[in-house]
Amino acid sequence: MNAIQSLPNSQFSSVYGPVKSWRFGRSLGIDPIGMVSTCSFNCVYCQLGNIQKQISQRQIFVPTAQIIHELQAIAWENIDVVTLSGSGEPTLALNLAEILAAVKKVTKLPTIVLTNSTLLGDRTVRSALKLADIVVVKLDAISANQLQRINQPVAEIDLADILAGIEQFRQEYQGFLAIQTMILSPWKSDMVRDYIQMLERLKLDEIQLNTPSRPRVLVRQLDARGNNITESSSYVCQNLRCVSADVLSALARQIHTATKIPVRCPPKTSL
Ligand code: SF4
Repeated sequence: MNAIQSLPNSQFSSVYGPVKSWRFGRSLGIDPIGMVSTCSFNCVYCQLGNIQKQISQRQIFVPTAQIIHELQAIAWENIDVVTLSGSGEPTLALNLAEILAAVKKVTKLPTIVLTNSTLLGDRTVRSALKLADIVVVKLDAISANQLQRINQPVAEIDLADILAGIEQFRQEYQGFLAIQTMILSPWKSDMVRDYIQMLERLKLDEIQLNTPSRPRVLVRQLDARGNNITESSSYVCQNLRCVSADVLSALARQIHTATKIPVRCPPKTSL
């Protein structure tokens, strides 16, 4: 069987949700990637399951006109924000700028992009992201080894380039820039120290610490992009290791004390 199991096109809608987000309220999702999950990472905790297509070259996956058409059918009363994320890394979509401009025009709501930070070295990606009100950049790894273990990137991506890309973007971007870090196991003190040093370089508005809290599907399911896979789902899932709320909260306190940057965690642990 082909490793890429495409779902029938009739099942694909580029707009999904709204999803209840602990960070942003009721968030309508826009998926600029499409039927085949596509990313420059293949994170061990990815809610989409194993990434089907790992690339770092940008291309158009979903035509902007299709997204606009679907947005026009939405009732907006119960939506706080619009988030670009979906079936992989949204900055891989070559029409990202066009999509963000169209979303703003149609919805007039705050727009958010969740990115894995790997393409921020590309000037055209940074320029597209400037159209978003909030950008959340992923940084899970403090060392090259951790990057390989947790994020499993395509060959040409390394940690130094990711950090340089985030730093460059911060210098150019006037909007709200948050970093998101997934904590899979308790951190040793030298990791916390190195992370804090990295944060001092990046001049962020907010730090978001998270830990996997839902089962992870093993085979691609379109439903998985909406964060609604639960233990009672009929899909074949893997339960992920995660740290306790107390561990997350203690780490958040330590980082906040050192950096003075607001640190948010899933409910009950925000500072
Ligand atoms: S960056 Fe996001 S979409 Fe890509 S593999 Fe990691 S969690 Fe999944």
